[in-house]
Amino acid sequence: MSFVKAIRPLVRLRQPSITRTMHIQSIPMWTGKGNNYAYLVTDEPTKDSVIIDPANPPEVAPVLKSQIDSGKINLTAIVNTHHHWDHAGGNDEILKEFGKLAVIGGKDCKSVTKTPKHGETFKIGERISVKALHTPCHTQDSICYFLEDGDQRVVFTGDTLFIAGCGRFFEGNAKEMHKALNEVLAALPDDTKVYPGHEYTKSNVKFCLAVSQSEPIKKLEAFAAQNQQTQGKFTIGDEKLHNVFMRVNDPVIQKATGKTDPVDVMAALREMKNAM
Ligand SMILES: [Zn+2]
Repeated sequence: MSFVKAIRPLVRLRQPSITRTMHIQSIPMWTGKGNNYAYLVTDEPTKDSVIIDPANPPEVAPVLKSQIDSGKINLTAIVNTHHHWDHAGGNDEILKEFGKLAVIGGKDCKSVTKTPKHGETFKIGERISVKALHTPCHTQDSICYFLEDGDQRVVFTGDTLFIAGCGRFFEGNAKEMHKALNEVLAALPDDTKVYPGHEYTKSNVKFCLAVSQSEPIKKLEAFAAQNQQTQGKFTIGDEKLHNVFMRVNDPVIQKATGKTDPVDVMAALREMKNAM
């Protein structure tokens, strides 16, 4: 009894440090046809913040401006997941409005000032550590960013990994996407939350169901039917269960594609999805 009493205050004391984790604000940029997301990531103690893929400044700049004016954020950088216009196309306008910021991204991103190497780490403020993961395929300059703050882990995947899907192979091939999804991203801790570049879950789940009617895919279908936004709601562990592109060794998926080699399965899945 006395032992329980003794540890209770300790538990209470620990709580503030648990809530003091990185803050992620999703900014849906849906006035265009893109269904894409910008993300504002803030280190709570310092307020140092980065804006990820602010592609449509009319939707992003007012959010940044009001938070800067009220002292809620100290904007330090633009971070890009790849060079496509619906991710990096707003860089110059953001720079023009908010002054000199670092632009961290792949080599082909507009006005980029720093391209981190594969596995290179940097910090946002005091607490957030960022690891750059090169995942060439959708574009050759695609980079995913793995962020950790205490025991909170997230990954921003751009157009490489979507919830239950993956990007088109515009500048790469199935071998590269297999490596990106099933070696690089699959190696992250299973509890890492996924923040993709677009909200494509509804159409992705339709395709997954056409290939496999597994329970995790049915569960995701139900979630997507109820929720317009799915970013940050699923983890790398979930993707390994419901994302058919991360199940290239699953006999059901192999049968549906008529292939067994993981790279061939990946290529066949992408062709099937493109044709859908
Ligand atoms: Zn893209």
